[in-house]
Amino acid sequence: MTKHFNTQTVHFQKGDGEKNVSKTKPIYQTSAFTFESLEDMESYFSGEKEYLYTRYSNPNPDDLGAGVAQLEGAPAGAASSSGMSAILAGVMAAANPGEHIIVPEDLYGGTYQLFEQELKGFGYEISVIDFTSIKNVEEEIKDNTVLLYSESIANPLLRAENLQELISLGKTHNLTVMIDNTFATPYLIQPYKQGADIVVHSATKYIGGHSDVTAGVIVGNEELIAKAKKKIINLGGSLSPFEAWLACRGLKTLSVRMERQCANANELAVWFREQEDIKKVYYPEAVSERGNGAMVSIELEEYIDLHTFFSSLDWVKIVPTLAGVETTVSYPLGTSHRTVPEEIRNSLGITAGIVRISVGIEESKDIIEAFNGALQAAKK
Ligand SMILES: *Cc1c(COP(=O)(O)O)cnc(C)c1O
Repeated sequence: MTKHFNTQTVHFQKGDGEKNVSKTKPIYQTSAFTFESLEDMESYFSGEKEYLYTRYSNPNPDDLGAGVAQLEGAPAGAASSSGMSAILAGVMAAANPGEHIIVPEDLYGGTYQLFEQELKGFGYEISVIDFTSIKNVEEEIKDNTVLLYSESIANPLLRAENLQELISLGKTHNLTVMIDNTFATPYLIQPYKQGADIVVHSATKYIGGHSDVTAGVIVGNEELIAKAKKKIINLGGSLSPFEAWLACRGLKTLSVRMERQCANANELAVWFREQEDIKKVYYPEAVSERGNGAMVSIELEEYIDLHTFFSSLDWVKIVPTLAGVETTVSYPLGTSHRTVPEEIRNSLGITAGIVRISVGIEESKDIIEAFNGALQAAKK
């Protein structure tokens, strides 16, 4: 019997995608999966079929988790709705309320807020301390300490964590070590391979790479990732299929982007070091054989007019994020570190003259020229 119009609009003839093999993975833009019979549905619960409901799992987010896990050399990975939800899931998988976590004071601003404004309220005990001395970290360890949390390259002064030291301290005291590897990416550093237990990423940054997606990834061993995945599902932090698809598309070009961006950043850092208007250049050394990252921070001399500098950067825009293919600048004091107490900011050296640069894939000569023009314009 022919169906009526109102039914036809919903159940019109749709082609069978299975017969044709798409070069790229299709987007499973669906909130759930269908079953032909009750037995068929049971096959999900027996583990034969993988997908039931997108908040639990979906092929596109699964690809992202698995892809990053592979690059990090970890057995398991899961995607989430943002870097923050990946961090939250990882912390909750590794530590229970009442337990003690040690974190560095130069944390990404959002992560600092997560610990200070949320996790403390849940009953977690948090110490925010100086990680530049491993002795300082060791002295903070107590009976209820379970987790050491840090970032492979910290923001905005680009301190490269001594991962080997931190990981061996964790092993000695039987603590879980969790590393935010957003700034370095697995192209430069693979903390899991070095012995870290959990690695998290804001895929919003280099993994996505094009500033068009908000996503997170967490990788580690099967057991910890199963726990983290449960948190992502229960807390509503699942990633949408389209966002996952975009992040996977970005991941394909991670190597070529990082190669160019690191080379450009290095050239820019070398040039900045020769400029008398720059008080200090922050660019890490010996991060990896492949390069030292694509972020450069500078401290301008006091006589440089900040407002003129920022508004004279031509095509380099002020953007409160990083890692896209375009070179951008940010002002940590006005954005990422706005909520960090002044006392901590000062002790970290985040002063009024600090400018953070996310170096893109453009021609390095043009990038240098944009900064040269701004410096010349801003000399008082
Ligand atoms: C951006 C960022 C985060 C947070 O990621 P979102 O995707 O914005 O939630 C965490 N850590 C670092 C180092 C970041 O740069």
